[in-house]
Parts: sequence; structure tokens; C-alpha cells
Amino acid sequence: YGFSSLRSTPRQTAVAWTIATVGVAAVFLLTDAPLAMPSGSYLERFATMLVFVLTLGRCMFLGMFSSSLRASLYKSSVELKRAYKRIEELAEVDELTGALNRRSIMQTLSEEIARARRNNTSCTAALIDLDWFKRINDRFGHPAGDEVLRTFAIAMFANIRTIDKFGRYGGEEFLLILPETADGAAQRTLDRLRTIVADLDWSAISPGLVVTMSAGLAMLRPNDTPETILARADAALYRAKDCGRNRVAV
Ligand code: GH3
Ligand code: MG
Ligand code: MG
Repeated sequence: YGFSSLRSTPRQTAVAWTIATVGVAAVFLLTDAPLAMPSGSYLERFATMLVFVLTLGRCMFLGMFSSSLRASLYKSSVELKRAYKRIEELAEVDELTGALNRRSIMQTLSEEIARARRNNTSCTAALIDLDWFKRINDRFGHPAGDEVLRTFAIAMFANIRTIDKFGRYGGEEFLLILPETADGAAQRTLDRLRTIVADLDWSAISPGLVVTMSAGLAMLRPNDTPETILARADAALYRAKDCGRNRVAV
């Protein structure tokens, strides 16, 4: 088992095979006991041993070769798996913020709607939009704007449950899905997140920088599709903006 183990290196395999060969050769050459072999004379005996050693040598070579081949195949398969995982991540995740990308969060919304319907549970969708983001870009620069988006996403991830789903819906607009959450609880959650964002020390990115967010919430209704629930969340977001921003509307 040790010879063919994936964990043994070609060098270890070679050493093991050499020891085995020398051991067998020593028994052949040094033993006094009669060996049941069709070898009468010393020459025949020597020829038999030579054939045996050559056969063992060939086995050793094959063992080394197959072991290193297996090791490299194993290494390639591990690398391939890693690459697949990375491709999957890249296909699902927004590069700048690490949140789910639009395609993925929309897919997740469909799945969560189906799940809520199956389990007869509630579900809330919240569209979150950063306030006056164009001004932030204009005043502090695009890189600072990017940093705001990244920091905002980190703050969100740090303050939502593992079952909640968070994705980037558009430029500075995000979609938060809160499964098994209705009315009051969803509103309290969004208001807590809104306060966290408003209270963050954004001046660490650029002196004088202040960031707030507005959110529009919609609870799942029996005949909702992703489009209809998002349309209501968008209408609520519009009201939150209209009422002065830095607020949550349902
Ligand atoms: P409101 O409060 O009404 O939402 O105003 P706003 O300025 O946030 O909204 P508006 O839609 O006018 O501007 C959004 C800005 O977001 C415009 C766009 O340049 C910027 N933006 C979109 N994506 C990115 C990004 O990836 N990085 C940066 N830095 N800015 C972005
Ligand atoms: Mg905005
Ligand atoms: Mg916007």
C-alpha cells in the first residue's frame, strides 16, 4: 500500500523498491537453504537472479513512473477543482463589493420566493440605495466612491444573518433579501442597518465624508413574482428618497 500510496513521493517509492530488491537479492545470494528453483549451476543461478533483479528493476521503474503520474494527476485535479470554484465565485460575485452580482441576487430572489411559498413563511425584499452618491463621487473622487461601496458592503455583511442574501443590484443600489422576516422585524432590521451606515466613521476614507442610505421594503404577497415584489420595493425606495433620504419606507 505504501508503494502505491498517493502520498509517497517518487523518491520514497524508489528507495522502497531498492530496499526490497536488495533484500530479495541478499536472500538469494546469502542463504544456504535449498531454493526451489530450476537452477543447477552457479551460472544458471546467477542468470535467474539477474532476470529476477531486472524484473524487479522494471517493476520499480513502472512503480515510480505510475506513482509520479498519479501524483501529478492528483495535483492537476486539485488545481482544476480550485479553478472551477474560482470561476463559480467570479460568476456569482460582484468584483468591487464581494456582494452577489445582479444575475445571482435575482436568481436568489426567485429561489427565496419559491422557498417561502413552499414553507408558507414570510419574506421581505429591501432595495437599498446610497444617498447623493453622485455628489460623493464628484466631491471626493471616484476611488473614494469605490471605497464607500466596498465599506458599505462590509458593514452590511457584518450586520445581517447568514440566511439573509445581499447583492449589488446596480451602481450604488443593493438588494437585501430577508427570508422568514415580515413587517415589523424587517423594518427594524433595515432601520438598524441605516443607523449603522449613518454612524460609521466615513472620514477614515476621506475627511468630511458622510454617507447615508435609503431603503424601500416590500413583503412577499401570495402571487408575487420577483418583478412585482421589486416594483413595490422600488416604489417604497422612491418614497424614502422623496421624504428626505436617510430613511426606510415600506
Ligand atoms: P440619490 O440620493 O437620489 O440616489 O442620488 P444619487 O446621486 O445617489 O443617484 P444617481 O443615480 O444620480 O447617481 C448614482 C451615481 O453612482 C452615479 C454613478 O457615477 C455612481 N456609480 C455607479 N456605480 C459606481 C461605481 O462602481 N463606483 C463609483 N465610484 N461610482 C459609481
Ligand atoms: Mg443613490
Ligand atoms: Mg441609484
